[in-house]
Amino acid sequence: MTDMHHQPDEAAVQFMIVDFLSEILKFSESPREMGQYLTRQLRELLGVRAVVMLQHGARAASGSPRIVAIEPKRASSDDLLKHLLQMVDLYPEPGQATLFLRASVAPDLARVMDRLCITAMSMTPLRVGELRVGTLFALDHLDLQRSDDVVRLLNTLSPVFALILRNALHFEAQEAKVLAQAEEYRALLQSTLDGYLVIGGDGAILDANETYQRLSGYSREEILALHINQLDAHETRQEAAQRLDLVKQTKSARFQAEHLRKDGSSFPVEVSTTFVHNQDLGIAFIRDLTERKAAETALRDSEAHYRELMEMLGEGVCMVDAAETFIMANPEAERIFGVGHNELIGMSLRTFLEDAEWEQVRNHTRNRLEGIKDAYEIVIRRLDGVHRTLQITVTPRVDGQGVFIGSLAVTRDVTDELKTKEALRLAQKMESLGNLAGGLAHDMNNVLGAILGLSTTHLDLQPEGTRLHSTFETITKACLRGRNMVKSLLDFARKDMAGVRPVSLNSLLVEEARLLERTIPANIAIKQDLDAGVGAILGDPDALSLVLMNLCVNAVDAMPEGGSLTLRTRSLLDGRVLLAVEDSGSGMAPETLEHALEPFFTTKPQGKGTGLGLSLVYSTVKAHHGELSLQSRSGQGTTIEMRFPGAKVHTEPSVRIDPEADAKTASLRILLVDDDELIRQSVSAQLEAMEHRVSLATSGEEAMALVNLGLRPGLVILDMNMPGWGGAHTLPRLRQALPEVPILLSTGRADQRAIDLAHAYPGVTILAKPFSFRELQATFAAILLKD
Ligand code: ADP
Ligand code: MG
Repeated sequence: MTDMHHQPDEAAVQFMIVDFLSEILKFSESPREMGQYLTRQLRELLGVRAVVMLQHGARAASGSPRIVAIEPKRASSDDLLKHLLQMVDLYPEPGQATLFLRASVAPDLARVMDRLCITAMSMTPLRVGELRVGTLFALDHLDLQRSDDVVRLLNTLSPVFALILRNALHFEAQEAKVLAQAEEYRALLQSTLDGYLVIGGDGAILDANETYQRLSGYSREEILALHINQLDAHETRQEAAQRLDLVKQTKSARFQAEHLRKDGSSFPVEVSTTFVHNQDLGIAFIRDLTERKAAETALRDSEAHYRELMEMLGEGVCMVDAAETFIMANPEAERIFGVGHNELIGMSLRTFLEDAEWEQVRNHTRNRLEGIKDAYEIVIRRLDGVHRTLQITVTPRVDGQGVFIGSLAVTRDVTDELKTKEALRLAQKMESLGNLAGGLAHDMNNVLGAILGLSTTHLDLQPEGTRLHSTFETITKACLRGRNMVKSLLDFARKDMAGVRPVSLNSLLVEEARLLERTIPANIAIKQDLDAGVGAILGDPDALSLVLMNLCVNAVDAMPEGGSLTLRTRSLLDGRVLLAVEDSGSGMAPETLEHALEPFFTTKPQGKGTGLGLSLVYSTVKAHHGELSLQSRSGQGTTIEMRFPGAKVHTEPSVRIDPEADAKTASLRILLVDDDELIRQSVSAQLEAMEHRVSLATSGEEAMALVNLGLRPGLVILDMNMPGWGGAHTLPRLRQALPEVPILLSTGRADQRAIDLAHAYPGVTILAKPFSFRELQATFAAILLKD
């Protein structure tokens, strides 16, 4: 657009106008830029000193009148605005573009023009329909010749200018509104409790509110310099980029993360992001989870502590609802009730109780309805049928309204404790009874001895058939009976067993069963339940036989209608041996059970029972350092268990004595070494009766001297306890001198020393003193017929 001053031809003007308009339309969103362009171009086109575009305070525009643009620009246009407005006031409604000359205007306007130092001007109203949106001033038309053309041109263009101005104003107003709204939001977001970030599509951070600044310790500027992938404490840049992509794809996401603070520490957050505008703009709300996390951790910790406590507690803790159904139980409670992990929950307490116990529990529960905390003992029957006694302390549980909803119970299995207490009490009772009986029996023995001596002497003096004879006979019989009783009492009072040796309880039971089978009624079945692995115990076989006999007689007595009698052995984990006699008979009422072990306690009719059976059993078991337990319930049979310490015999006793074996052996020379003359006499008599030849020695030293002189016995019987070398020092020498010859080590007490010694050398067998002729025969048979 050059050289417009000289007769621009019509077509070129048209062309320029179109060009001009299309140019202006580019600025349609910004009234100021549009105005500036317009005024610049117009000034050139019109050849005037200045062009001003004024905008009126119309409805569509915001606020008061203002100068939209002025060309050329000047620093302050306040005065100018005032004068222009005065002109508009003087000519409020010029219908179209009008030219004013200083020379021909009214004095008012002339004064204004003077102030502005102009001589000619044009004023063009900018209207859209009836609405005047602005006025375009061309000040000082320099070329008055062309003024008509200019005015015509302005008239042509003014509707377009008006439209553009109005649109631009409208747009500006709209934008201002949007900005105001955005500002409002921003203010709101600044003050939210959550942190707030605006994120670009590339992950740049475009805005951050005060809350996030406070949380992160960064200033706003510092945050805006960061990239989204620098916020997370744990994510690598790559992971963060992947996350951003994912969030953009799904448009919105919520996740937990750990954000970094400026000081390098971190804080847990929950992020919810939404991407808008073709995923180019994201908004993220960031909630600080520190407190929530802390609360969660605290809760988890306290739960863990609670669980740990419950698990390690030595007491059973359980909860039942109002109907006595388990709703919680710790491992110890599960152990007490004999169920697997988590099996108690959902089960009813009723499952474990007999009718009477259930009644008792329900009564206690009714008390608890009044809020009473109580403690009691109760017997449960576990699923495996075992009865256990529990001590329970129960506290009622109530809900918020105070309604009873169940109980919390702390429980302890006191069965073993009670048993121990009971055993102790029994032991004390039996001990004092034993002392009493022992003292009494001792005195009684002397009294009876005196009477017996006198009565037998006088019995022999009186001729048979006389009254005195029969009197002394009766006295003698009574004394003998008394002596038997006194013997039983003495047995009961006895605290130690003499003459113990390794005894196989299995053999003992087999023997006892064989004996019983011949004597008991056919409607009683004898069962043997023997553990083949049961080792020997140190004991007195005769006393133990008597124990078994007594127990079996009691069992048979308890089963007049028939039943079963079980003889049982078991080797226990603690190395002890269990011996049990069980019957399916009448059982005992608690009162009977309480006194059954006492001497002279019997429930049997006179003449049948003596009441000494179980007391003897008890004292014998005690003398064997064993334990006795009675289990019996009325109508449910009786089990008597005895636990004996096992003998520390490493291998099977080398010889099993079978009393029924054929004992005939070939004639041998036997060296008998014993310091006791009586033994030497009686044993050599027995040996000779077995057709053996005997050489005697009174000590180990003497025996070795005989061997050194050339004695070659086929067997040696060596006493353990002798003065001098004794068995212990003789045995090695004998073994060395006579390596092949069997040696019987005879000992009064089969103590560990003798057993160890016998095991240390080959071909050595223990011979327990005192031995009967048959036992000696059997031992010989076992050794000599072995191969
Ligand atoms: P006795 O057999 O002479 O009565 P015990 O000392 O052997 O004396 O037994 C004492 C009491 O214990 C018996 O009278 C009986 O009441 C009770 N008793 C013992 N063993 C049994 C059993 N196996 N079954 C039932 N009751 C028994
Ligand atoms: Mg008896």
